[in-house]
Amino acid sequence: LPELFEEAAPILKALQDNGFEAYFVGGSVRDLLINRPINDIDIATSAYPEEIKQTFKKTVDTGIEHGTVTVIENKQTYEVTTFRTESDYQDFRRPDKVTFVKSLTEDLKRRDFTINALAMDANGEIVDLFGGLDDLNHKVIKAVGNPSERFHEDALRMMRAVRFQSQLDFEIEQHTKEAIIEHHELLSKIAVERVRDEFLKLGLGQGFKKGFKSFIEFNLLKQVPILYDYESELRRLLGIDFLPANEVIFWSMIAVSCQLPLDKIRPFLVKWKNSNKIKEEVVAVVELFDVMMIKEPTNRELYQYGLTTLLQTIELMRMFGEEVNATLLVDRYNQLLIKSRDELAIDGKILIKDLGFRPGPAIGQILYDVEEAILNHELENNLKAIKNYIEVGDFHE
Ligand code: ATP
Ligand code: MG
Repeated sequence: LPELFEEAAPILKALQDNGFEAYFVGGSVRDLLINRPINDIDIATSAYPEEIKQTFKKTVDTGIEHGTVTVIENKQTYEVTTFRTESDYQDFRRPDKVTFVKSLTEDLKRRDFTINALAMDANGEIVDLFGGLDDLNHKVIKAVGNPSERFHEDALRMMRAVRFQSQLDFEIEQHTKEAIIEHHELLSKIAVERVRDEFLKLGLGQGFKKGFKSFIEFNLLKQVPILYDYESELRRLLGIDFLPANEVIFWSMIAVSCQLPLDKIRPFLVKWKNSNKIKEEVVAVVELFDVMMIKEPTNRELYQYGLTTLLQTIELMRMFGEEVNATLLVDRYNQLLIKSRDELAIDGKILIKDLGFRPGPAIGQILYDVEEAILNHELENNLKAIKNYIEVGDFHE
């Protein structure tokens, strides 16, 4: 077993020593079998949450009502979840109730796709009840059980199908696919945050084009905020040869491809429940993109947007087939004498105390002009040079 699993094996053993069953389950088993980097190791057990907590010294109640306890061992964290089934699916959403069960079989049955319904014991022995190994080998995403029923239980699974298609570069099995096409409307019942998380993973997957094509063609696109109106624009992304490297570039790419006007971008990102941080970063990238599509950015623009935004904008331009001289732009940025206002060798206080200016709007203007001269390499950033510049210049009130 690979190191990550070796390190986690004592958790399974500790549970077994207390008379419980315990297995590795879900994404980590799948990813191990196809040599994909492993995110987090999930463990399923017949022990109830209280029993899990009694077995280990350090635990955190992360999702106790769903049966999940986080176990901390050797500075690693593991999500340990009691075998459970889900019941009372209402409105095609996640279940209101989980029921703890004593068998692994019941637990695996409620999982979404056969490749996600594999379990592995501490010896590396695989439990495969639904043909998940075969589907992994054939690169197929197939619902566990009847796909229509499974999508009625939780419509997010349709979105998960296309996101795994993108992440794994797999195909979606025929019946599973037909069920998505038939039931795509159910996706509208799902909370936007959940759809967004899957959409973003789709957007950052290696098989982006494949997953995104399905997302459009299975009509899931028709059920998501704002974008449902932009099918032909979004289809153009299927011709792009670059993959978005991160969340900010992904949302910027979507906004630019839909040609959303600048004042519509914030509302768009809010509708998708993005954080303020992501929102502001995306707006900055799209603004600078708009600038750079028509001209070279000024030094002040490089300064104002900063290096991270610049690099992301360059990537975005390349995605859309624009040639950009990245080295030149980054050199220009690096040569700026100041990178932010606090690096300026003068401030309002000095202007008032040492140079006798009166507090007021003039101060801001002077600082702006000084900053501009420094950004344009017409002035050095030291107090003496700046004082001299102000004295000989036309800066009197
Ligand atoms: P990732 O690498 O993105 O974490 P993952 O397969 O671990 O992929 P998670 O969303 O972390 O996906 O879910 C862990 C496991 O829980 C899945 O592999 C699957 O077995 C099960 N699961 C998660 N969400 C659902 C769902 N909506 N319906 C059924 N089973 C689910
Ligand atoms: Mg996971």
